[in-house]
Amino acid sequence: MDLSVITTYRCNSNCQMCYIWQNPTRPNEEIQAETLAKLPAGFDNLNLTGGEPTLRRDLPQLVETVYPKARITEISSNGLHAYRLVEIVRKHPDIKIRFSIEGKDVANNSIRGEWDGFRKKMEGMKRLKEAGGKDLGFATVIQDENAAQLVELYGLSCEMGLELATSTLHNGWQFFKNDNYFYDRARAAREVEKLIAAMLKSRSVKAWFRAYLNLGLMRKILGQDRLMPCTAGTDFAFIDPWGDVWACNVRTDVPLGNLKRQSWAQILSSEMAQDSVRKVAQCPQNCWMVTTARAAMRSRRLPFLPKLRVLEWVIKNKIRTALGLNVRFDRYVDYSNVAQSPSVQRTSFLDRPFPRKVLAEADKHYALEEFHNR
Ligand code: SF4
Repeated sequence: MDLSVITTYRCNSNCQMCYIWQNPTRPNEEIQAETLAKLPAGFDNLNLTGGEPTLRRDLPQLVETVYPKARITEISSNGLHAYRLVEIVRKHPDIKIRFSIEGKDVANNSIRGEWDGFRKKMEGMKRLKEAGGKDLGFATVIQDENAAQLVELYGLSCEMGLELATSTLHNGWQFFKNDNYFYDRARAAREVEKLIAAMLKSRSVKAWFRAYLNLGLMRKILGQDRLMPCTAGTDFAFIDPWGDVWACNVRTDVPLGNLKRQSWAQILSSEMAQDSVRKVAQCPQNCWMVTTARAAMRSRRLPFLPKLRVLEWVIKNKIRTALGLNVRFDRYVDYSNVAQSPSVQRTSFLDRPFPRKVLAEADKHYALEEFHNR
């Protein structure tokens, strides 16, 4: 169904909740267009992500390679080099572009360690709109420092005619980080309630379904079980910059294969892939990664349609909202059962440059072997 390709671990942001930027790849090791050409056609959503994909000089070539293979081609960017996306958008106005934004002005710049980042993203988005972009939006990682701004960010996105995608703090190999924990889970979840209410009030059908995804984020934030079973490795896969294919971007023990050395068919039918899919079915992680959550919410046969239980929730709560009633959040989350987590301070890198350590070729790609989400 869906595939994410991590084109690079180089990044020109310095985020506090993701240390990709401290672990850059060498450009000559990064996955090339000829490797991606081995992918079959027929994906529903194929995301070119990073690190920061606009740092790849050959990004237009990567786009041309994967664009015919998916119903939706997506680029996840920090938006600091929006001008590098203008030509791509002119050529493919339906390409989906999401700029990471973590709050209004100071909050964004502090969380992401980006000098003047907020203004650059706003201006960059305007340029992509002028270039004819039809599927543009922002993406926010919900955390203590920005939870109170969610409704405002959503309002800003709507005013600009843009989407707002949300995810939340996770630990995983993709982030090179194992200490992302909320300081106050209940407070953050209460803020997500407000966002869900605002999304259900809107006229956008997409926003109604995103409200359900946010309900799953509330459960993740509170440390409660996933809203729906994970289908990573079956409906979703990740490819890292070295061509290694994984069921998800959290666990390092669910590899599927390697696209440089194998064909896609060989990967899917391998013992390794089948073993990883079995592990996913019993995964104990408290996780609601947006990638696997989005896949789990959709029909496998018709991926542009939601699963029935998602549709039922949306219809029921859209009607409640239209009647002026509140969503019964107590039916889906339990505020009397909030998970405890270690108190680990996150640090802004805005004023604290940190040396980037390029891995030597012989180094292990993911030195932290296990990543935990509770
Ligand atoms: S639930 Fe487990 S298998 Fe699924 S994405 Fe999360 S960590 Fe990976």
